[in-house]
Formats: sequence, structure tokens, C-alpha cells
Amino acid sequence: MKTDGYTRICGLIGNPVEHTVSPVIHNTLADAFALNLVYVPFRVEQERVEEAVRGAYALNLLGCNVTVPYKSRVMPYLKEIDPLAERIGAVNTLVRIPGGFKGYNTDMPGLYRAMCEDGVEIAGKKALVLGAGGVARAVALLLWEKGAESITLLNRTLEKAERIAGEINGLAGRPVADAMEPGAFASLPADVEYLAVQATNLGMFPDTEGALIEDPAFYRRIHTGYELIFNPSRTKFMKLVEENGGRAFGGLKMLLYQGIIAFELWTGKKIDAALAAEVYAEMQKAMGLKPQGVMALEPQKAMGLEP
Ligand code: NAP
Repeated sequence: MKTDGYTRICGLIGNPVEHTVSPVIHNTLADAFALNLVYVPFRVEQERVEEAVRGAYALNLLGCNVTVPYKSRVMPYLKEIDPLAERIGAVNTLVRIPGGFKGYNTDMPGLYRAMCEDGVEIAGKKALVLGAGGVARAVALLLWEKGAESITLLNRTLEKAERIAGEINGLAGRPVADAMEPGAFASLPADVEYLAVQATNLGMFPDTEGALIEDPAFYRRIHTGYELIFNPSRTKFMKLVEENGGRAFGGLKMLLYQGIIAFELWTGKKIDAALAAEVYAEMQKAMGLKPQGVMALEPQKAMGLEP
């Protein structure tokens, strides 16, 4: 890739950023459209988030992604915030507008697009959310907005799960969500099968043997397990779901679509299914995986992940 005086820059603000796959997404897309644009990760120290956002604007960056642990922390330094990001309380994409950046959340629509493509239905389903952090909150909102019949959040810190369930019930005006500690899962009705979304950090590289719940009895209640972690490509959660008769999906497709939506916001380009598939294959290659079609309805069985 050549750079010159006209090259536009998009960046990633986070810490750490060294293992990111996002440059593969955006640089592949920039090449595909022959855009003079590069995407670069920026490691930002905690106390320098404001400087980073204002500095990125001063340096004429076209946009940024924001990752852990700054998705909420960047919000005070933005010129505008999209209503969806405001509602979720987290921004993962900054788009340059006159006088500053506008913040968007593309994680939630990215996850929805990935779930639709994987053939995962939400409407009328009973759902479990493992975790009650930033992304779990967005997942619970998504599940409610898309018509889940019930949403139970299981989290180590019960109060955080209770807070999110309370918010959802407030929005719904009826008791659609509740909360419990992970160890209390046996009190879930025994005759119900669930869609479960895994939104904790447990099982993420390098501690790949972790799972919030390890008891197979929990996994026998799950017909579909949706993992948000993408490294490794097959987590302990996914293995447990599959070993107990359910189907499992990993988080790489969510990563793909949150990136595609961000790129569309920055450049105004539209990414079609063929180009999305090309980018997905590049991401899999970059992670040492055997490329599989983006439209595949089967869970990724790819092995040999290199961190
Ligand atoms: P977060 O706000 O830090 O929340 C972390 C969650 O994990 C909390 O529920 C926390 O429980 C739980 N947790 C962490 N360590 C634990 C432990 N040792 N035992 C039990 N529970 C533990 O993180 P986040 O931003 O929501 O991200 C969550 C996951 O989503 C991450 O793995 C991230 O990789 C993934 N993600 C994927 C994509 C994608 O595109 N695929 C995008 C965004 C995020 P407590 O509340 O008790 O601390």
C-alpha cells in the first residue's frame, strides 16, 4: 500500500491493541475500493483518552474505532452521539464531523447482522445472557428489541445483572428480564430450551480454558450458543454447547460486521455480500484459520488458531 500527502487515516483507540484484526478488515476494504486510506491501531494509556480523541481530530483522522476499555470513556469528548450509542451507553466508532467526532455503536447492529446470517432467531425465544458488562448490556437490549420472550442475565456480580434486567423491564413496562448468579442456573425451568449469548471475557486468549459455567447440565438446556469472543475461534463455551447437543457460533462474524458498518459510516461505500465474504476470508487467514464462507450456516469448525 502506497501512502502520500492525500492518504486518509482511520485508527483504533484501545489498550491493548496489539492483537487486533481490525486493520485486516479496513485495509482490505480500502484496497477493494482503491481508496487512499490506511487503518492503524493506537495504544492509548488510561489517562490520555481525552488527548487521544482530540489529537485524532487535530491530526485530521477520518474516523476511529474504540475498543476495550474505552467504549464509554470516550463519550464525554465527542461532538455528537448517535441515539443508539447513547441508549447502549457505549461508542465503538467515531466519525469525523465539523468540530469533532460523532460516536456510533456498530457492535449491536453488527451482532444482529451476524446472528441473522447464521440463522439464529430471537423473536419469541427464551434467552440467557452470560455476563453483565458493556457488551452484555447491548446484547440484552438487542434481544429485547428483537422480541425475545424472556431474558435472564447470569453474572458473577449479581447487582450488575440486576441493574440491566431492571433497565430492560423499565423499558418494556413488564417483567421480561431477570438476573441470577451463574451457580443458580438449576433454578431455571427444566423443560425450557434457551438461546444463550456468551458475553463475558472468560475463554478468551490466552486463558482459553475458561467458561463462566462448566456444568454440562447447564448446556443441555441450550439449543443455540452464540459466543462473542473470536479468539480462539472455538471457545470452551462453544465446545460445551456442541458436546451437549446444541449448535454454536463464534464472534468473528460480529467483528466483521461491526467493522463493515463502521467503514460504511466513514466512507459512504456500500459493502456487498461478495466483498464481505472476501474480507471474512482475509480475517480468517490473518488468524491462521482455514477460510470458510461468510454465508455458511454451519458453526466455524476451524482449528489451528495462531494468536
Ligand atoms: P466488560 O464490560 O469488561 O465485561 C466483562 C464481563 O465478563 C463481566 O460480566 C464480568 O463479570 C465477566 N468476567 C470477567 N472476568 C470474569 C471472571 N474471572 N469470572 C466471572 N466473570 C468474569 O467487557 P465487554 O466489553 O462487555 O466485553 C465482553 C466480551 O465481548 C469480551 O470477551 C469481548 O472480546 C467480546 N466482544 C466481542 C466483539 C466482537 O466483535 N466479536 C465486540 C465487542 C466485545 P463481573 O461483572 O462480575 O466483573
